Amino acid sequence: MIRARCSCGQLSLELHGEPRVNALCHCSDCKRRTGSAFGWSAYFPERQVGAQSGTAVKRSVPVSEPQFRYFCPDCGTTLWWTAAMAPGMVGVAGGAFDPGVLGEPAASHSDGQKCAWLGLPQSWTRYP
Ligand SMILES: [Zn+2]
Ligand SMILES: [Zn+2]
Repeated sequence: MIRARCSCGQLSLELHGEPRVNALCHCSDCKRRTGSAFGWSAYFPERQVGAQSGTAVKRSVPVSEPQFRYFCPDCGTTLWWTAAMAPGMVGVAGGAFDPGVLGEPAASHSDGQKCAWLGLPQSWTRYP
């Protein structure tokens, strides 16, 4: 079992097994969600999602692919989400795991929108 948690620790989520997808995404939705240069997302099938600890606030987000985002009402961390483009899956913020718990990402999505100054390993799969 691995666990992702928010900045303040009030909210956490248990995950079982390996994520189906472990990737960066450079689309504007991910950039705005994180406030960073890219989003790091681990997608787990719903059956691999374990117990939630703490209180989460759920909001519908009308971005390009409709999403429900779950975040900590105390510190504002967006910890997990579901998206119409990934039915049956739960996306979890990759940076919310303890260091080293989540393996190296294997793919770069919306690669065409990647910040020009950002370099990534050549071995990763690129999706436009
Ligand atoms: Zn928090
Ligand atoms: Zn994205």
